Amino acid sequence: MISAKKDIDWSSLGFGYVKTDYRYVSNFKDGKWDDGVLTTDETVTLHESAGVLQYAQTCFEGMKAYRTVDGKVVCFRPDLNAQRMADTCERLEMAVFPQDRFIDAVEKVVKANLDFVPPYGSGASLYLRPYMFGSNAVIGVKPAEEFQFRIFATPVGPYFKGGVKPISLRVPDFDRAAPRGTGHIKAGLNYAMSLHPIVDAHNKGFNENMYLDSKTRTKVEETGGANIIFVTKDNKVVTPKSDSILPSITRRSLMYVAEHYLGLKAEEREIPFTEVKEFKECALCGTAAVLSPVGRVVNGDEEIVFGMDSMGEITKKLYDTLTGIQMGRIEAPEGWIKVIS
Ligand SMILES: *Cc1c(COP(=O)(O)O)cnc(C)c1O
Repeated sequence: MISAKKDIDWSSLGFGYVKTDYRYVSNFKDGKWDDGVLTTDETVTLHESAGVLQYAQTCFEGMKAYRTVDGKVVCFRPDLNAQRMADTCERLEMAVFPQDRFIDAVEKVVKANLDFVPPYGSGASLYLRPYMFGSNAVIGVKPAEEFQFRIFATPVGPYFKGGVKPISLRVPDFDRAAPRGTGHIKAGLNYAMSLHPIVDAHNKGFNENMYLDSKTRTKVEETGGANIIFVTKDNKVVTPKSDSILPSITRRSLMYVAEHYLGLKAEEREIPFTEVKEFKECALCGTAAVLSPVGRVVNGDEEIVFGMDSMGEITKKLYDTLTGIQMGRIEAPEGWIKVIS
């Protein structure tokens, strides 16, 4: 499938950056946000001592625009991304970009790049990356006073290559985040700390890390960039309860889908690693990963194999229902879908 207008082969897209026409920029100075504009300039010019460069004062969000079965372009629960970014900014001592303006800016960026929204059925979507950083010069350790908020868009395909072939995880000797404090914010600082563990995992033949809680190292947390769900032998959907993992919107939505669309029990609770071998299915969930089946988890000498060569039965039902809601094939709960065009 090739876009006539943009000459992109949608079916071969991976998860990488493709430049689109417009991005949104707004600056916070003297205690207020300016009006914000769309620009074609994808570069950012910064002061050499900008807060983001010295003390990593930056955070982001990740969301997608989808082309539905009837040709509309929609976003999925953007209000939750706006809320989460506000929460992250509070924790990082950054100015909060007003939530109604966040949603308005998302809409502007998608409308300005409509030709880059992949067609229905291509398996691709338009990924949106809202982000913010401290932009004025700081040298003593303190928050910046000026910030830049931006959103760019880039068309993306699947996060993991190989379609629905299950991925492998290993339990690393590293922690994903501090035990209390920074694990629940969506910020580059957590990702910076995850780069070494992920390169190490790849070098050892694994797709990702399954982090355990850093306090006791006995409970399942999440991976570098996605939450985890499990299915029990009696078809309950369970997911880790923890203050130090990122509250995934995909996960919240899947738990709702499990209960209200599929009639399954859904539980958020602590999950000791020793229980993992008892589960029937395991998958990663997130905007980028959608729902990616996990086939194997290795922890030192222990290897847990979920024994399937594509998505497990319940994982597949969850996937079909969630993507059905996003692509307009299945009726969405009130307020989940924002129609943009
Ligand atoms: C973004 C992110 C997720 C997934 O959250 P969604 O809202 O479902 O996209 C999970 N874990 C981490 C660390 C993240 O940054």
